[in-house]
Amino acid sequence: MDKNNLYRMIPKMDILLELPEIKTLIEHYGRDLTVETLQEEVQALRREIQEKEEFDMEESLETLPERVEHRLNSLLKPNFQKVINATGTVLHTNLGRAPLSPKHLEHIALIASGYSNLEYELKEGRRGQRYSHIESLLCHLTGAEAAMAVNNNAAAVMLILNTLTQGKEVIVSRGELVEIGGKFRVPDVMKASGAKLIEVGTTNKTHEEDYRDVINEETGAILKVHTSNFEMIGFTESVELDELSKLAKGYDLPLIQDIGSGVLVDLSKYGLKYEPTVQESIRAGVDIVCFSGDKLLGGPQAGMIVGKRKYIEQIKRNQLTRALRIDKFTAAALEVILKEYLSEETAMRNIPVLHMIIQKKEELKDKAERLRSFLETLHLDAEIEVEECLSQVGGGSLPGERLDSYAVSLKPGRISTAKLEEEMRKLSVPIIVRTTNDKVMIDVRTVSEKEFFYFEQLKDIEDF
Ligand SMILES: *Cc1c(COP(=O)(O)O)cnc(C)c1O
Repeated sequence: MDKNNLYRMIPKMDILLELPEIKTLIEHYGRDLTVETLQEEVQALRREIQEKEEFDMEESLETLPERVEHRLNSLLKPNFQKVINATGTVLHTNLGRAPLSPKHLEHIALIASGYSNLEYELKEGRRGQRYSHIESLLCHLTGAEAAMAVNNNAAAVMLILNTLTQGKEVIVSRGELVEIGGKFRVPDVMKASGAKLIEVGTTNKTHEEDYRDVINEETGAILKVHTSNFEMIGFTESVELDELSKLAKGYDLPLIQDIGSGVLVDLSKYGLKYEPTVQESIRAGVDIVCFSGDKLLGGPQAGMIVGKRKYIEQIKRNQLTRALRIDKFTAAALEVILKEYLSEETAMRNIPVLHMIIQKKEELKDKAERLRSFLETLHLDAEIEVEECLSQVGGGSLPGERLDSYAVSLKPGRISTAKLEEEMRKLSVPIIVRTTNDKVMIDVRTVSEKEFFYFEQLKDIEDF
């Protein structure tokens, strides 16, 4: 058929806009957006006519409104969406780190959907501080004199150094000049903050004298960085916090510690490797400790700063603090999460990250068995087994620590493992998995029972 004829068969815009289906779309999505989308769809139609040998014009015109609606829907659907984390990595930075529980979200939603006393003293009826909701809690939990929170831990480090050590020298051990994920490099952050880095010691050993030897009138602070995401073993030595604290005090310098993951509970009680707690640092005499809100603390993205009042007050007055401050969602989430820590049992039960980390092997096995039973009802083309596996904490916490876990493994029949992994990623609620050899592994540590029904989507994968 003559293509020009086909082009001519496409109705004019004003005619299309009179179609009842299009009118409904206009009512629903608004006129401008619908018209724009309709124009795009007509363009797509013209391209198709141009490219194809055979073209069913009648059918194309009939389904035009449907395609416009589809286009509108996918345009309006958020690209930032829920996924199922079946990797077993609890603090998966790419998948959003710490999830919150519905109970916490209820409170956050309440705060976010209306007005609140974010910076308002209800008793006195005057302006208040946004930190007031968390400050005394943080002090109570960590033993610090004062506390505040900013956007994230990277911001916290930057702000602390900028406030207390701008233009001055900051001493750091060479063994602690780390790079954390997302390009957080201690030397670069220091440079950006305006402090001058003075490296001491060697990669594997740093002694007290190494610090002492470089202290002079230009020194602004001693910084200790928790080497969160790697572990040094063998011939190593670093200076204990209390020893460093004594040294810093002797010269009237602040001792600052970036502890990375903010652990408030001694995890070794639960069979995990010991990760230094914030309380311990404060007790050892560290003047300022900072840590993340969404790593082992299990809360929202935030950078907590706790320590001596005189330093915290200075930091609060820094103009940068205004730029790095937490928003009301974060303030609301932090308060409810920190309140869980008032009782350790409650924290371990109600904070999803902690709950996932301390799940017992038998519980995980039972969970995996239940998921297997469910998957078996779907009649998938795969061998389905429950297997032991190892999950990790992630987020640069507890490096090297592998947690015993269970996975449901899927060995697909017709399609390849790589194809299955890809198809699972493309589901409308994507399921993110690890693969080993010839199997897809669904580590149930990070999958809640309530999420099992999402696996019904596996039925929609072609040839599976
Ligand atoms: C994770 C980490 C950071 C960065 O924290 P964010 O909250 O992601 O900004 C900084 N320092 C250390 C030691 C860390 O482990």
